[in-house]
Amino acid sequence: CLNRQDKDKETNVQVLLRCRPFSEDELRSNVPRVVTCNENKREVTVMQTLANKQVDRVFTFDKVFGPKAQQRSIYEQAIAPIVNEVLDGFNCTVFAYGQTGTGKTYTMEGGMRNKGGDLPAEAGVIPRAVRHIFDILEAQNADYNMKVTFLELYNEEITDLLSPDENSRPTEEKQKKPITLMEDGKGCVFVRGLEEESVYSVNEIYTLLERGASKRRTAETLLNKRSSRSHSVFTITVYVKETVIGDEELIKCGKLNLVDLAGSENIMRSGAREGRAREAGEINKSLLTLGRVINALVEHSAHVPYRDSKLTRILRDSLGGKTKTCIIATISPSAYCMDETLSTLDYASRAK
Ligand code: ADP
Ligand code: MG
Repeated sequence: CLNRQDKDKETNVQVLLRCRPFSEDELRSNVPRVVTCNENKREVTVMQTLANKQVDRVFTFDKVFGPKAQQRSIYEQAIAPIVNEVLDGFNCTVFAYGQTGTGKTYTMEGGMRNKGGDLPAEAGVIPRAVRHIFDILEAQNADYNMKVTFLELYNEEITDLLSPDENSRPTEEKQKKPITLMEDGKGCVFVRGLEEESVYSVNEIYTLLERGASKRRTAETLLNKRSSRSHSVFTITVYVKETVIGDEELIKCGKLNLVDLAGSENIMRSGAREGRAREAGEINKSLLTLGRVINALVEHSAHVPYRDSKLTRILRDSLGGKTKTCIIATISPSAYCMDETLSTLDYASRAK
């Protein structure tokens, strides 16, 4: 299997900013807008009032998408180039990062399936990426195999979102398969015990997404706030038969990880708060470590702390080296969210 992740060492992190529109509730209650987006200048401005004086803070990103930006344009401008890399045999990762309620899941999954099988306008990154990959491979008449996994990470524990529903299985089968992180001799990490589904059409992806989403919802009723504290990782692995030399087949393989992160309000920033939050069990180790890993990659540090959390261990072969990483930071335009919005903007600017 030809995988090009180790070829050279340049880092490639792209940071995008997306501001969602006001919700109907926010419109009804007339919440002031404090965020403005200038897509051409790639700037986001937050209007902050300090001691009765208005102080604007301006942030610049690789791309900025305002409240009117369509799902399709985000996909075409930001994600489509990454998918081309995946088909070339690279490993890539897209993260949605932001406060709960700002559109991470909308951006990654978006509106669900149309009756006819076409992509609805609200379709997010996952269904669009799958469709795009199919379209390219079919057009090339390629000999390929596409596999997907979908997992949730909560409190450093992994749940398989694609495993068959426990309730619908006979009792003797109820025993859960243990899911563990394993390392091969070369330092590659893989998740053992995870369902891996081969997919052959976009419609199948919707079936899998719906299965995963309903599993997440079930867990949610058992434990309030779980989805805002958990990460979900949807991984597409594509194997394409390149050539046959003698009796040896050369298979090119690339991987795309699409990650819907826990709400950024779960990250604690100052040292004092960190101490107290840890006692209360509120610290989100994977979210905290991800920030450190990305900073280390951007700054070309000698030590990248991949091993410090499950999320960064799972994604180790898709972060750093010759991989592409895209962070989509999501914010709300409303005055009520200003503190979290500023935190998200600070965090996302640091990742560049
Ligand atoms: P998160 O996953 O960050 O908690 P959601 O994706 O669930 O947030 O979004 C919260 C709500 O806002 C949902 O009802 C979603 O449909 C809506 N929403 C988010 N972003 C947009 C957008 N860009 N356009 C329209 N509706 C959006
Ligand atoms: Mg969500």
